[in-house]
Amino acid sequence: MRFDIITIFPEYFTPLSASLLGKAQDRGLLSFGVHDLREWAYDRHRTVDDTPYGGGPGMVMKPEPWGQALDDVLTPGARLVVPTPSGRRFTQKVAGELAASPQLVFACGRYEGIDSRVMAHYSSPSSGVEVDELSIGDYVLAGGEVAVLVMIEAVSRLVPGVLGNAESVSDDSFAPGRMENLVEGPVYTKPPVWRGLEVPQVLTSGHHGRIARWRRDEALRRTAALRPDLLARLGREGLDKHDRRL
Ligand code: SAM
Repeated sequence: MRFDIITIFPEYFTPLSASLLGKAQDRGLLSFGVHDLREWAYDRHRTVDDTPYGGGPGMVMKPEPWGQALDDVLTPGARLVVPTPSGRRFTQKVAGELAASPQLVFACGRYEGIDSRVMAHYSSPSSGVEVDELSIGDYVLAGGEVAVLVMIEAVSRLVPGVLGNAESVSDDSFAPGRMENLVEGPVYTKPPVWRGLEVPQVLTSGHHGRIARWRRDEALRRTAALRPDLLARLGREGLDKHDRRL
C-alpha cells in the first residue's frame, strides 16, 4: 500500500521509518512518499498562505500550491484524506475502509486550514478522486501532521502481513465483528503475583472456553464503565445469549 503525505513540515514524518512501519517498508508491504508543499509554491519566498477573505485572525493555505501538488501526487484510484477538526470522525471502521485503497494521499493543513475550494475541486465527480475530511477528535491541533501519523499507524496495522499475528487485529478494541462498539478488557503477563496483585485465576486455568468468556465479560464491563456511549450503540443485537446474563 502506498501513502503520500504533503506537508510544510516533512521532518514530522521521520517516525515512519521506526518500529512496525519501518519493518513493513523493508518487507515491501508499505511505501511512503513525504512531499514538501513549498516545492509547488511559485514565488521567491515559497509562500503557501495568505490572509483570509472576510477578515479575522490567522492565515489560510493558498489553493494554487495545493492544486499543483495534488495533481502531481494523486494517481487514478487514490483517496485524498484531509485532516480537519470539522471532518467525519476517524474510527477503527474508517481505518478499515482506508486500508482497502491502493494509495492514500494526505494533505496536512496548517494555520486556519486549506482554502475550501481545494476540497470542493477534488470532491467533484469529474476529478475521479474520493475525498475524506477526517477528524481524530474534538480538539484542535496546530497542524494535520500528528493527525496523519495517527491515521497512518491505525491503517497500516490493518494491511495484511503488517502485523505478525492477524488475530490480534480482530481481538482489538472496536474491531468489526465481536469487538465492534467494545473496548478490550484488562491484560496481564508474568509474574503471577506483582506487589501483592494476582493475575485473575481463570487466565492460568488453561481452559480456553472460560478464558474467552471472561475476556468478553471484562470487555463488556469496561465498556459499560468507561464508554457507555459505545455500549448504547451495541444494542441487544450486538450481545450474545451469555452476555444477556450480565
Ligand atoms: N480553524 C480550524 C478549525 O477551527 O476547525 C483549525 C485549524 S488547525 C489550527 C490547523 C490544522 O490542524 C487543520 O487544518 C488540520 O489539518 C489540523 N487539525 C487540527 N485539529 C485536528 C483534528 N482534531 N483532527 C484532524 N486534524 C486536525
